[in-house]
Amino acid sequence: MNERVYEQGRWSLADLISASDQPENIGSEYLDQLEQAVSDLETKRSMLSPEMNPGDFVTVLAIVERIGSLVRRLGAYGQLWFAEDTHNQNALSFRGRVESILADAHNRTLFFELWWKGLDDSATEQLLPASGDLSYYLLSLRRYKPYTLSEPVEKVINLKDLNGVEALVTLYEMLTSGFTFKMEVNGEVKSLTRSELMTYARDPRPELRERAYKELYHVYGENSTVLGQIYQHVVRDWADEQVGLRGFSSPLSSRNLRNDVPNAVVDVLLDVCRYNVDMFQDYFRMKAGWLGIKRLRRYDIYAPLSSSEKAYPFNEAISTIFSSLNAFSPTLAAHAKRVLDEGHLDSEVRAGKYGGAFCYGVLPGITPWVLTSYNGKGEDVSTVAHELGHAVHALMAADHSPLTFHSSLPLAETASVFSEILLLEHQLESESDPALRRDMLARFVDGTYATVARQAYFVLFEREAHALIKAGTTTDALSERYLANLNEQFGDAVDVSDEFRYEWVSIPHIYGTPFYCYAYSFGQLLVLALYKRYKEEGEAFVPKFLKILSYGGSKSPQEILAEAGIDIALPAFWQGGFDVLQGMIDELASLSA
Ligand SMILES: [Zn+2]
Repeated sequence: MNERVYEQGRWSLADLISASDQPENIGSEYLDQLEQAVSDLETKRSMLSPEMNPGDFVTVLAIVERIGSLVRRLGAYGQLWFAEDTHNQNALSFRGRVESILADAHNRTLFFELWWKGLDDSATEQLLPASGDLSYYLLSLRRYKPYTLSEPVEKVINLKDLNGVEALVTLYEMLTSGFTFKMEVNGEVKSLTRSELMTYARDPRPELRERAYKELYHVYGENSTVLGQIYQHVVRDWADEQVGLRGFSSPLSSRNLRNDVPNAVVDVLLDVCRYNVDMFQDYFRMKAGWLGIKRLRRYDIYAPLSSSEKAYPFNEAISTIFSSLNAFSPTLAAHAKRVLDEGHLDSEVRAGKYGGAFCYGVLPGITPWVLTSYNGKGEDVSTVAHELGHAVHALMAADHSPLTFHSSLPLAETASVFSEILLLEHQLESESDPALRRDMLARFVDGTYATVARQAYFVLFEREAHALIKAGTTTDALSERYLANLNEQFGDAVDVSDEFRYEWVSIPHIYGTPFYCYAYSFGQLLVLALYKRYKEEGEAFVPKFLKILSYGGSKSPQEILAEAGIDIALPAFWQGGFDVLQGMIDELASLSA
């Protein structure tokens, strides 16, 4: 199916908003439409009543949906333009301008949400059946009822966040994406971006792995006072608002409500991850043996087992990813292909570009945008498969409303991680060199460590950090706490050197989206369990999986998964994901015997 030769390049955002010679005119037609829609909704305010007829309610909902769609389009353009070049002043100015227009629109339309949340259950039961695909969106708003403040207070919070906590996070992103790293490679001192530097974490040469981490945390360490201070403000803002003003029982429970996952389920997930951490420790002990060293250093945990460095040309990587998706479901492969065919993938390596990788599904039916810095390593191929999986998920849910097509956080990693596993399976089948096969499998287990245990431990750290900051602490004390967290994670299996105390100030998620990271552990363990079902059920599993994806965010995670026979409240379910992983580790051990 892949006749085209794909080359690395920059994306085009023209399908979202067309560029203009006058930066101040960009997006003006959508801004006008937004103003119109917001005014329309304002004129309907007097219609809102518990006794309103369902037909009028549907009319109001259509305007709410239109506003949601315009807000997503404009907000996404600001984010994506900024991500492709974080130092582009026009992009920054557009983003800033749009953010304040969107905050104003949000404030002017807030009355709808507040009215809906304030209704009695009997009134919402009358109106909900008319809401069609928007019912889960409306039910989700109702979840916030006990934690919602008065309209003037909500407005002030929105306005003050813009130049408060959100501005702090922007400053954090600007500071850290401007970092350059100096590293000597083959006698030459290179100036590298973070993503270029971190390709050396997987270098076969131990001294380069060490040098890369030392430089990474040297730079973050030098900036740790400022970065740590930003973090303390972000955390205090979170606590003051979520716990202090809104009345959540803990900082974490606010995130859990947003994810529509009960607190108890998240506690079970984190406990099971903590309980199984010795599975990774045993794996790291074995890995030390395969690498011919006594004990792994933290620098070595992602080291490749074979020293032959295989480079994957971009076009070959794309072709492999398409084939692996196609073998599972041609529908998924066709969706992934759209991202490339429509020029929505930004894969080149550039200074100033946002350092990570992500997929942004903006609106139903519009092909998502994917950003990654492709360096030709095996890891980069997996990253592209992962992000294209996200895009496929969004396209599978294209029939839903702009307000429900986006899957909720706990299910957000389902298609992405599944694509990675399909890629691995495909690569294992077509690779004849046993050393490379072993390396691939080990890389997957390394990746699973990074997604499951590492992310769960980030959240365990955040839980502690939020408590420490509430009680009053210093950046140095937080770094000390972070080292203790790493020592629990690695036990005596891995040597953790001192500079890793600064790792926490290098994790964007704990700044931008507190407690986000357990969604990775959730997603990866879930997918391991789903993959097991695929192996057991074969073809019969495919439509079930596509069904899960096609729900997008139109039902709660529990409901969607219950349909596939999964109960996320059971520790045994999560343990099942670890059992699959143990199987892979055993296979790796036998391959190495
Ligand atoms: Zn992802």
